[in-house]
Amino acid sequence: MDISALQSRLPAIRKWIDTTVEEHRPVARPLTSLGFARLAHYFDAETLKRASVVEVDVVPKPPLTTLGLHQFSDFEQMNGAGVTYGDVYFVERSRARDESLHFHELVHTIQCQILGIDRFMLAYALGHLVGGGYENNPLEEVAHTLEGIFAREPRLFRVEPIVSQHLERVVPALMKAAGL
Ligand SMILES: [Zn+2]
Repeated sequence: MDISALQSRLPAIRKWIDTTVEEHRPVARPLTSLGFARLAHYFDAETLKRASVVEVDVVPKPPLTTLGLHQFSDFEQMNGAGVTYGDVYFVERSRARDESLHFHELVHTIQCQILGIDRFMLAYALGHLVGGGYENNPLEEVAHTLEGIFAREPRLFRVEPIVSQHLERVVPALMKAAGL
């Protein structure tokens, strides 16, 4: 993978993200208005207050292949139920009442909050490349693992410190693997 090609496209992706979020902001709803009862047992009030949700028929993805990033065509074409851009996340309308999906996207809002959007984009892209696809992206793995515990187990835990410690471990390793 040509990392410099990826890096050169990041500003265009960022622009697409900012435009997409601004276009949808009028219909975004505060997560706290949606009445999910369990999330507050896992996330800080600040995390929940920051998040806004947009319900859509198809979650919007950046035009990565158009930008020449063919290594991400699987990510772009994947029919995901949710996607997160900063504090705003998009969920497929049919899954909008699924609290586990909101849990998953909230993990990504924490990653964005800690890293900032630009560094999150880079780390996510490197995770996709180094990990070898969506499933093995460490930034997805942690979200899926914690979501799974939330969905299936009664035990309570706080998400923010887990996500923070996970990023401290994996982001430097991803940068190193990419020669950055
Ligand atoms: Zn995810």
